[in-house]
Amino acid sequence: MSSYRNTLDFLLHDWLHAETLTQRQRYAEHSRETFDAVLDTCERIAREKYAPFNRLIDTDEPRTVTEPDGSLRVVLPQATHEAHRAYAESGMLSAAQDHDIGGMQLPYLVEAAANSFFGMASISMGSGLLTVGNANLLMVHGTEKQKQVFALKEFSGQWSGTMCLSEPQAGSSLSDIATKAIPDGADFAQDPLGPRYRLRGNKMWISAGEHELTENIVHLVLAKIPGPDGKPVPGVKGISLFIVPKKLVNAEGELTGERNDVALAGLNHKCGWRGTTNTLLNFGEGKFPVGQAGGYDGNGAGAVGYLVGQAGEGLRCMFHMMNEARIGIGMAATMLGMAGYHAALDYAKNRPQGRPITGAGKDASQPQIRIIEHADVKRMLLAQKSYCEGSLALLLYCARLVDEQRTGTPEAADEARLLLEVLTPIAKSWPSEWCLEANSLAIQVHGGYGYTRDFPVEQYWRDQRLNMIHEGTHGVQALDLLGRKVRMEGGRGLSLLAARMNATIERAIQQPELAEHANALAQALQQVGAATKAAWATENPTEALANAVPYLQAFGHVVLAWMWLDLACRVLPDDTTAAAITPERRAGVLHATRYFFHYELTKIKPWLQVVAARDLTCATMPEAAF
Ligand SMILES: Cc1cc2nc3c(=O)[nH]c(=O)nc-3n(C[C@H](O)[C@H](O)[C@H](O)COP(=O)(O)OP(=O)(O)OC[C@H]3O[C@@H](n4cnc5c(N)ncnc54)[C@H](O)[C@@H]3O)c2cc1C
Repeated sequence: MSSYRNTLDFLLHDWLHAETLTQRQRYAEHSRETFDAVLDTCERIAREKYAPFNRLIDTDEPRTVTEPDGSLRVVLPQATHEAHRAYAESGMLSAAQDHDIGGMQLPYLVEAAANSFFGMASISMGSGLLTVGNANLLMVHGTEKQKQVFALKEFSGQWSGTMCLSEPQAGSSLSDIATKAIPDGADFAQDPLGPRYRLRGNKMWISAGEHELTENIVHLVLAKIPGPDGKPVPGVKGISLFIVPKKLVNAEGELTGERNDVALAGLNHKCGWRGTTNTLLNFGEGKFPVGQAGGYDGNGAGAVGYLVGQAGEGLRCMFHMMNEARIGIGMAATMLGMAGYHAALDYAKNRPQGRPITGAGKDASQPQIRIIEHADVKRMLLAQKSYCEGSLALLLYCARLVDEQRTGTPEAADEARLLLEVLTPIAKSWPSEWCLEANSLAIQVHGGYGYTRDFPVEQYWRDQRLNMIHEGTHGVQALDLLGRKVRMEGGRGLSLLAARMNATIERAIQQPELAEHANALAQALQQVGAATKAAWATENPTEALANAVPYLQAFGHVVLAWMWLDLACRVLPDDTTAAAITPERRAGVLHATRYFFHYELTKIKPWLQVVAARDLTCATMPEAAF
């Protein structure tokens, strides 16, 4: 069994006690054995169908060929088709769904853990994150017909899904989207698939927006329905959500043979994550008119779309998908970091270079030592371990909260919801920043070789670099945390989080080995609380939010310190239930905890200082002075 699997098992079973979920009615048919079987299957598929092709999909980027009708067809390596097929056949796309629609009713915790293998093996070959998120959204906000026709075909892997939010001129600021939707004919409201509209506009950066991995693609598109004056309603209130299938379907979900007016304008050629197509899609420009008449120009121009939920509620519905996607991105970042860490560890154990420095200097007649024996290389490995395994703990903790939200008592579910509100920006952003640093350190451990394509670590870094950008940039996540999440519901989310941290601190303080860390975490928590208050002391958002990113960094470091302290409590020898924990696991956790408290948590002071002082150095820099 791989050492990563051992780590995962430790977190899932020894720390989070995944098996206790089987006491919940929804998961009652599961057991440790069924959980292990899912993990074994995913580990095997990732090893056989994903990992061997990770370099191939990087060098053999998606390309297009022009078809006789003028459309662009995307060509992907055969390996991607086979990986997609194997993943769909494993049943993982519908793992969390009810038995009666073919699902496994698997806890989200186990689903997330199982999917982690694919992130480590080949992040951009894709394991259906967008498809599952798209279908899950429809299960919550779609009509029965929309669920039946679209979501179920996505869960089976027959069709796939996208999320189409961004436009060339509107990325972070979605209220400025320009894609328009107009009612399609007098009977538009009577369509069995939902109120039918025609959409026109350009969507930029759409992942998996065009390919032939599946028979059809279900685009979920944000667009604005014009108000009574014929103009788009300004702001997010004007945004609605539509299902726009690539190929048109009838009310039974069968393909009609007609394609929709959605055209691939081109592929984006990316720094990394090249196994997934990234597209500019033109909706409704009339390249593929639908029907003989109607649409925007009377000749069928306009992509046919079906309204999901209520008009004007599009962004609220989309948030359902975005929150899941954000946890998914955090996991992707974590596993890219983990892949680099394991590669660096392996290299460091085998590369002879240099000799120990002793009091008498270096003895050149002695054989060289392996680089893992140098303190500085150990520092780089320990940093990677503390970032990546700490992130994994956080992501699994969040996944466990999702299960609590779904199956806990009303009180516990509500607490989990609020904790997730506060933790989601951290779960997305902290791994994106610090596992990128881990990937950089993995290159450093390899020396010059790490900078070449003969080793995998440069690709991990390039793949990783995306994660601070998509699904809400780092800056946007920071604004969400300090501007909204820590203040919502009178700051109750922050109080709940502090209570959980304090419970860990109380346990840790009983252990002589951990008391110093427990005190450090208590102090750090108090500093975060004080900085939050100071930032908002003048109730002026410009001042409060000027240093939102340093706040996010400090907050994230405190959360990760908490994770490590909690793990450390779990491995201590006098914890009699921890018999299954090996001495190596214990030493690894205790050292990583010590590293995190001594080398990382100490960084938060300057970050919080500028937050608390409402320092406007950056905000007031005159543009002309740059
Ligand atoms: C590979 C890839 C895949 C993607 N996949 C999808 C997808 O499937 N679907 C989809 O809809 N989108 C997708 N995106 C788009 C992605 O979500 C956007 O790139 C992202 O939201 C940022 O938008 P932008 O690129 O327009 O940058 P901008 O919004 O122009 O941001 C540029 C910079 O300005 C900062 N900034 C912007 N506004 C503010 C503000 N108010 N305060 C402080 N700082 C600010 C940002 O933090 C950033 O640093 C993808 C992007 C990439 C690169």
